[in-house]
Amino acid sequence: MIEVSDIYKSFGENEVLKGISANFEPGKISLIIGGSGSGKSTLLKCMVGLHHPDSGKVIYNGTEFTRLSFEDRIPIRKEIGMLFQNSALFDSMTVEQNIIFSLEMFTDMSKSEKIDRANFCLERVDLAGTNALYPSELSGGMKKRVGIARAITMTPKYLFCDEPNSGLDPQTSILIDELIQELTDEFNTTTVVVTHDMSSVMGIGDYILFLYQGKKNWEGSNKEIAHTDIKELNEFVFASPF
Ligand code: ADP
Ligand code: MG
Repeated sequence: MIEVSDIYKSFGENEVLKGISANFEPGKISLIIGGSGSGKSTLLKCMVGLHHPDSGKVIYNGTEFTRLSFEDRIPIRKEIGMLFQNSALFDSMTVEQNIIFSLEMFTDMSKSEKIDRANFCLERVDLAGTNALYPSELSGGMKKRVGIARAITMTPKYLFCDEPNSGLDPQTSILIDELIQELTDEFNTTTVVVTHDMSSVMGIGDYILFLYQGKKNWEGSNKEIAHTDIKELNEFVFASPF
């Protein structure tokens, strides 16, 4: 379980997060939704330690991550898998090299163990045999899947995905959502997905956190979302194409 408590974050004069609190449960997919610029990616980056919040806490299973030194964060960071916005693959590396990168950083696995693990992860995302390809040879959907394969190499307890559906056609987008759902069930991860994709909201959102101008405007389940009378949320839902 991940607890976020009263997070504030500014960039210069721009106050982006204004006191966000939320709980993210294991074995569930939590979605952070909201319009462009509402602070979704910033919140995700504060949660994984890529940004330091100005104040507030991020707590992983009772351990206050935000208080730890860089060194002391490593055990938790090893349990975090992250799919970055735009996949963020290394263009000069093959698919296999991209996937085993974190194993090289964090483990002392032998070469053959690393390749076995890469093959397992590639099979898991339905990309067996693509080891030697370069990112430039992949479609957008394949890049996302390689990004997911890379996120699961270390068998994460916590899985973060920033806009996993962006730039994908609706069918591929649904396949990516199904994959995220399967992995969450299989590994019992605490999964946090940033999205503004309404079909994801209806399809996979166990818990939804709606950000509006850096504040929590609404939280609840996707069954409740249709019955809310929160003006900003209704405008967001109404403005989003299904
Ligand atoms: P979202 O992911 O919801 O579209 P972001 O969290 O990326 O929103 O951005 C929220 C606001 O924070 C925007 O106004 C953006 O310009 C600003 N911002 C995000 N990252 C940085 C940064 N590294 N430096 C300065 N401003 C940033
Ligand atoms: Mg973003």
